[in-house]
Amino acid sequence: MEDYPRNLMEFEARFPTEESCHDYIYRLRWPDGFCCPRCGHQKAWPIRGVLFQCAKCGYRTSVIAGTIFQDTRKPLPLWFRAICHLTSQKYGANALGLTRVLDLGSYKTAWTWLHKLRCAMVRPGRDRLSGLIRADEVYIGGRSQVSGDEELQVRHWSLSW
Ligand SMILES: [Zn+2]
Repeated sequence: MEDYPRNLMEFEARFPTEESCHDYIYRLRWPDGFCCPRCGHQKAWPIRGVLFQCAKCGYRTSVIAGTIFQDTRKPLPLWFRAICHLTSQKYGANALGLTRVLDLGSYKTAWTWLHKLRCAMVRPGRDRLSGLIRADEVYIGGRSQVSGDEELQVRHWSLSW
């Protein structure tokens, strides 16, 4: 995306609210306008927040359905900040760093987020994420394939559909 922020300050300015995140995801997901996942109709009524109802078949969907944000109870700006943090860490982010940056107060939550984002990243198109987050470059440390995701080193992500 041409207007993808380049650092945390730009990020904060660009995605201060849920709505700003929704708008961004909406444009990634439906660059040519809404398209009903069930019938393909291109007109929908906004219900509330992320929810839209197809004007033809009545199917309700949300801009975050099928993405890793689908079931989150945390604010989307926080997720976006996490993604920004991970993209900006040249030598790989870790859960402790993420805990600090996001002020999550829970190492376990930070670890879960890292795990989710990394899974989304290393297996684009193979899970529910369907490529919302794509890795431009992924570096895998020496033993990571043996010892698991936690040692994956990640550099430069971009939000992309
Ligand atoms: Zn429909």
